[in-house]
Amino acid sequence: MMRLHCLGTAGYHPSETRHTSCYFVPEAGLVLDAGTGLFRLPPLLRTTHLDIFLSHAHLDHVIGLTYLLGLIPTTPVECVRIRGEAEKLQAVRQHLFSALIFPAQLDVQWLPLEKSDLQLPEKCVVSWFPLPHPGGSVGYRFQWPTRSLAYVTDTTADPIGNYIKQIQGVDLLLHECNFGDDQADWASKTGHSWTSRVASVAKVAKVRQLLLTHLDPRAPDHDPIGLAAAQAIFPATTVAHDGLVVPI
Ligand SMILES: [Zn+2]
Ligand SMILES: [Zn+2]
Repeated sequence: MMRLHCLGTAGYHPSETRHTSCYFVPEAGLVLDAGTGLFRLPPLLRTTHLDIFLSHAHLDHVIGLTYLLGLIPTTPVECVRIRGEAEKLQAVRQHLFSALIFPAQLDVQWLPLEKSDLQLPEKCVVSWFPLPHPGGSVGYRFQWPTRSLAYVTDTTADPIGNYIKQIQGVDLLLHECNFGDDQADWASKTGHSWTSRVASVAKVAKVRQLLLTHLDPRAPDHDPIGLAAAQAIFPATTVAHDGLVVPI
């Protein structure tokens, strides 16, 4: 069975209980985003390769790439592939790995996303799609023969958006929900999502399970986004927390 491990579930900056965006499927060596939560990777590794997919290059999604330099030599990992939009990879390499920002280069493959779908081991087909966000973001769908996972982060949830068809019917939709309904205006302004809109997306796309993440690190841990409002629209909704493990 494959499982999604939530290594970092905060948006923007870490809190005492949440690190920033990073998710891991150990059985597939699959990493979604590389926020500060990436430091939790080594004890979970099961493969000699890592496939890291970046949604975009905002710091809370890429800063953990710098941790790979120290982490990887202590693990059995021999091959690291980092994928994202070409201009985002270029920005990360030029700026985050500038000699003035970080002292060394990584021994990894930087692989820009191409137009067609991508095939990963375990018969996993990966497709991606653009998402509206300042600077742009991309969402991903990972389709195994009997399972599917969609990752949609840093965008304003839109039940009539172009990405609905891409995530249609997935077993697990991991979707950002940075804000509760009371901050819908602010969410719109900053290119993020609020609770009831994300739940509507899950309902319209007929997904099996919705997991809300990229949560405001300043919000209370017990109920950061008003879960009841989501469950009223889409009952199979849960809120992610660091350390949560979800079967896909
Ligand atoms: Zn973010
Ligand atoms: Zn962002």
